Amino acid sequence: QTSAAQQYVQSVYEAVIKRNPHENEFHQAIKEILDSLTPVFAKHPKYMKQSILERIVEPERVVYFRVPWVDDSGKTHVNRGYRVQFNSAIGPYKGGLRFHPSVNASIIKFLGFEQIFKNSLTGLPIGGGKGGSDFDPKGKSDNEIMRFTQSFMTELYKYIGPDEDVPAGDIGVGAREIGYMFGQYKRIRGGHEAGVLTGKGIIYGGSLTRTEATGYGCVYFVNEMLESKGLSFKDSTVVVSGSGNVSIYAIDKATQLGAKVVACSDSNGYVYDPKGINLQTVKRLKEVERKRISEYVNEHPHAEYFEGCSGIWSIPCDIALPCATQNEIDEESAKLLVANGVKAVGEGANMPSTLEAIEVFLNNGVLFGPAKAANAGGVAVSALEMSQNSMRLSWTFEEVDAKLHSIMKNIYQNSVRAAEAYGHSGNLVVGANIAGFLRVADAMLAQGV
Ligand code: GLU
Repeated sequence: QTSAAQQYVQSVYEAVIKRNPHENEFHQAIKEILDSLTPVFAKHPKYMKQSILERIVEPERVVYFRVPWVDDSGKTHVNRGYRVQFNSAIGPYKGGLRFHPSVNASIIKFLGFEQIFKNSLTGLPIGGGKGGSDFDPKGKSDNEIMRFTQSFMTELYKYIGPDEDVPAGDIGVGAREIGYMFGQYKRIRGGHEAGVLTGKGIIYGGSLTRTEATGYGCVYFVNEMLESKGLSFKDSTVVVSGSGNVSIYAIDKATQLGAKVVACSDSNGYVYDPKGINLQTVKRLKEVERKRISEYVNEHPHAEYFEGCSGIWSIPCDIALPCATQNEIDEESAKLLVANGVKAVGEGANMPSTLEAIEVFLNNGVLFGPAKAANAGGVAVSALEMSQNSMRLSWTFEEVDAKLHSIMKNIYQNSVRAAEAYGHSGNLVVGANIAGFLRVADAMLAQGV
């Protein structure tokens, strides 16, 4: 059975590469999932017989579209917009929009594919999707951001809706962009369909705790891993990469739990502050003034700034939380972290560790919380935002935070149990992938071809 399953998985992987040439990030995400699912196919051949893998690796729909916009000097630019509607077996497509110059079909497809399993893990009724644009928000004025997002939504609105597809934020898309997009959707559709987007402002249908959810959720997840070994955040040294929404609230929660966060970064470099990162400074620099993290040292002269991103992983720490972007930890960085005694890694970003880096962590007994599980708190609270929108009422911060906390605990426990049940005790990569897969696969089986 095992060799039949291995052959099946390998043949699907090769078909994906053939059908989607040069899409390296997409291949990487597929490989990680497929390898973990082999024991499932060996145990339950029904999934092979029903060609579930062949179906799950092909998006239900992909749209890409022109996004023309005019800058402040009157010049016209054209970007490309994407929306991948990957899987709707358990609910409407759900997943963020990423605005970043690196965005292409491979990146959006890897993110959309990951989202299927992540969303399933939350236990909430949301399918998987992702979208975005190769637009670079860096250095753009507020008016330029507004014109771009309005143009983007003028095309995207045709494909989304509260019961069809519900986008949210991701890298480069925060409350400001969601606000402009919601305004444009509302203008075009002529109604207040609050559930069409999540991550909205609180006064027009947003959920309390959504802003904090991904970072807090990641720390809640890592805390579960630590407690299973009698460890905790208290008095630990933590390195958090990135300085966006996920990082900021990971730093916030880790600090609340008694940790000292000594570093964070942006796409140019990183700051090392041995006294502990001052979160108020980071928040103001990044969220209000939209400046570079290098400015941090002007206000905290005892801290040091270093150019380049990967150097952050050479800082000795007990817990590493990669919250910046894909493939930010390679094999070499993983080895450095291990050599410096890292005990736990929690992925706040999507696919921040390469396949080789994950091997290094698992082979060296590092507690490893894979992205699909560890960063699912954001989309989980997005789903809670959709629930509140449908009910036309809103829960308190404490209520949503408590639900988030229990969702993260469930994800941890379900991943642990699935890993055990399929012979990979303690491997949360395998556990999360299997637990996420089973719900989607069973829904697909129930719904027929
Ligand atoms: N972009 C986030 C993620 O990667 C959130 C998606 C959402 O809230 O829909 O899961």
